[in-house]
Amino acid sequence: MARNPIQFQPGLSLPAFLEQYGTEEQCRATLYQSRWPKRFVCPECGNTTCCQLSRGLYQCHHCHHQTSLTAGTIFHGTHLALTTWFLAIYLLTQRKNGISALQLSRALGGSYNTAWKLKHKLLQVMHERNQERRSPAASRSMTPTWVVVSDRESACAALSTSSHLYCSGRANR
Ligand SMILES: [Zn+2]
Repeated sequence: MARNPIQFQPGLSLPAFLEQYGTEEQCRATLYQSRWPKRFVCPECGNTTCCQLSRGLYQCHHCHHQTSLTAGTIFHGTHLALTTWFLAIYLLTQRKNGISALQLSRALGGSYNTAWKLKHKLLQVMHERNQERRSPAASRSMTPTWVVVSDRESACAALSTSSHLYCSGRANR
């Protein structure tokens, strides 16, 4: 039986994932790099200089607006560690059929309700991302949803390359 090349595309192994995104600092660095790839940009005035305050806040030197790394992202206001979010994204994108909220809660070590909310928030953003890819402009590359969702090499790279996974004002609480 012929192998489906999509299913056998190279992926990110769990050890490799943990090596790259296993600590809060690594996740924060990834998020920072994705959000401000060149340098900090004030969301209020566009100024590019700031100082870092306690509690992870950044204050613009020009207008003194304070923002956080997660403001305006799906991580905003979350009580979960970024490592939990990143791992959830990884787990959700590793299988053709995703992962159930129950399996996710067991893997993450949290409650079922938390895993359920987390999963559905991520799926919503992924769905919107797929919708964008299916726009007329992107129709040539139309693919089944699961292919995009299991975009394995970007299981977490999705965080850094597809800004949509965490951006666009999805500050759901
Ligand atoms: Zn500013």
